[in-house]
Amino acid sequence: SMKYIATPFRTKEILNKYSFTFKKSLGQNFLIDSNILRNIIRRAGINDSSGAIEIGPGIGALTEQLAIHANKVVAYEIDQRLLPILKDTLKTYDNIEIIHEDILQADVKKMIQEQFQREQEVNIVANLPYYITTPILMKLLREDLPVSSITVMIQKEVADRMAAKPNSKSYGSLTIAIQYYTFAEVVMNVPKSVFMPQPNVDSSILKLTKRDEPPVQVEDEDYFFQIVQACFAQRRKTLRNNLSSHFKEQYTKEEISELLESIGIDGIRRGESLSMEEFATLASEFYKKSS
Ligand code: SAM
Repeated sequence: SMKYIATPFRTKEILNKYSFTFKKSLGQNFLIDSNILRNIIRRAGINDSSGAIEIGPGIGALTEQLAIHANKVVAYEIDQRLLPILKDTLKTYDNIEIIHEDILQADVKKMIQEQFQREQEVNIVANLPYYITTPILMKLLREDLPVSSITVMIQKEVADRMAAKPNSKSYGSLTIAIQYYTFAEVVMNVPKSVFMPQPNVDSSILKLTKRDEPPVQVEDEDYFFQIVQACFAQRRKTLRNNLSSHFKEQYTKEEISELLESIGIDGIRRGESLSMEEFATLASEFYKKSS
């Protein structure tokens, strides 16, 4: 509808009114397409009793739709200049809380306790600043927040890596890191024309649904992720070679080959062919061997 913020007309009107200039360094690419927002909201599982957390409301395009469809919205915005603008553009909604803070510094767990009801389902929904997509998502996942899902607009190439399957070009340590915590799905690819200004890269909507339990048992999560990273250190190298470089101070090549053989993983395979379960077995064997 014409009255929404997420139209080229309203967005330009707001930017002009406040003489707002985009900060590239803050990843400011605002959504100007209501259809895309409808898709994001629908896929995020938002309903009139749910809570929503947004990262980077900008001038409020997505925030407004969240306020309409959710019970309550809390949004983190780092750019001081946007606060008076948001106060104006969102003034007709009484279920929005804007927090002026860097999301990477924020105590999100405490905020959820304070701002949402105990039994309320909370989802994270955002058109993320692309320069810090991975740090933001890893922070939100590691902190084990009481949220059901995270639905975000991000760079297509990063979305593909996060949702990748084994034996594909995009599969890597980021895939394992994300899928250890979530079921990851690319919901749709999005043209550059839905943003103002248009970004240089292609975008996708990614939906991450939190797992109740990790998909694999590992003795030590940090150790597990270190091994995964080691296996992808040089993508074109075999497992045996990547692991030999990683463990060069501790184990000989022969010891590494033996260990791989003992768990039935062929050392001439590449990291990109290993499933999450195989990485877990591998990490577990090295962990036991070194302790
Ligand atoms: N949600 C708006 C939309 O879709 O039109 C704006 C999205 S824009 C891609 C990213 C927003 O994140 C900007 O408003 C930017 O100022 C904000 N931002 C950038 N870094 C941030 C950080 N570390 N913490 C919180 N917000 C941040």
